[in-house]
Amino acid sequence: MRRIYMDHAATTPLHPEVTAAMLPYLGERFGNPSSVYGEGREARKAVEGARARVAEALGADPSEIVFTSGGTEADNLAVIGAVYASGVESAHVITTAIEHHAILEPCHFLESLGHQVTYIPVDGSGIVDPDEVRKAIKPSTVLVSVMHANNEVGTIQPVAEIAAVCREAGVYMHSDAVQTAGALDVNVEGLGVDLLSLSAHKLYGPKGTGCLYVRKGTRVRGLLLGGGQERGMRSGTENVAGIVGFGVAMELAAREWKERSERILPLRERLIEGILERVPHTRLNGDRERRLPNNVNLLFDFIEGEAICLKLDFQGIAASTGSACSSVSGEASHVLLALGIPPEKAHGSLRLTLGRENTMEDVDYVLETLPAIVEELRRMSPLYHG
Ligand SMILES: *Cc1c(COP(=O)(O)O)cnc(C)c1O
Repeated sequence: MRRIYMDHAATTPLHPEVTAAMLPYLGERFGNPSSVYGEGREARKAVEGARARVAEALGADPSEIVFTSGGTEADNLAVIGAVYASGVESAHVITTAIEHHAILEPCHFLESLGHQVTYIPVDGSGIVDPDEVRKAIKPSTVLVSVMHANNEVGTIQPVAEIAAVCREAGVYMHSDAVQTAGALDVNVEGLGVDLLSLSAHKLYGPKGTGCLYVRKGTRVRGLLLGGGQERGMRSGTENVAGIVGFGVAMELAAREWKERSERILPLRERLIEGILERVPHTRLNGDRERRLPNNVNLLFDFIEGEAICLKLDFQGIAASTGSACSSVSGEASHVLLALGIPPEKAHGSLRLTLGRENTMEDVDYVLETLPAIVEELRRMSPLYHG
């Protein structure tokens, strides 16, 4: 059976150009970039070439890119690294209630060390009010971290406005842009951020690589200590093949984000309209307008999103309930709860995230398949009466 993959917020397949660029570094070009002989110099050149590509795509300087093992490590480095580097004994961090766990867990860790964290609430569509950030800033505030777009409901945040508030207050601004690179314009000058996280596997690059952008002069202490790679900000032998693939993926993302988004938007619109039309007792989660061009997140009354996903999988469609993490713990999504959705309803969510390979035929197949699945599950639900 043909498979239709609609979970691009979880991960994406490698772009063929990315695979081609990586292959030599999984084979004959195996050198360690820190070695001084030919093989090492070749690897160093590859890493620095990728650094230049990533920097160019972001409007940054190559010296401002720190390669990491992905989005999670970049987020940890930004939050914990900025607080450690500040030297403030009881530092204050501001973030939001809807961040990825890769931000929230480091924040909880900092709290356990005696630091303070303010979690700014969001409105019903998941948008952060820059004024709330302004009000939360105090003399001990070191960092504000607000994601560029949410991975579950796709809501796009006013990052540039929040960054302006931070700059005025002399506070560092970090943004997790893992979901937006390749879908929106991600330019560090346009956004005005000091720190920005990226992950290659969310933009048709390989898993296990990404970076933290660190604006010149921004003080961040490295968390991995050792050989001093990445200017001392991230020790450990570089993932050369991964970094090369990341560089190509970012170059493609910067070149193609607009046409990718313009192509995918009508697919998203047809999915949203089509499902809302065909399935009663259903609503869209997140903001209708300020959302990622590939994100559809719906709430179906009376049933579990998990069950819908299983049935879709049997029909050849890969989708998720929201975040990969909440499906393991069985807890309701913290993002949906922060949007004001009651816990008993929050389990009824389904996220479909489109990507490069999806077509209108894929969308039509989902529209043919999903309503019957929902109907069948509802008929079995004790909560549903007709
Ligand atoms: C996927 C994701 C991460 C984690 O990135 P990894 O490279 O998988 O560690 C962080 N933040 C957001 C918003 C994500 O979607």
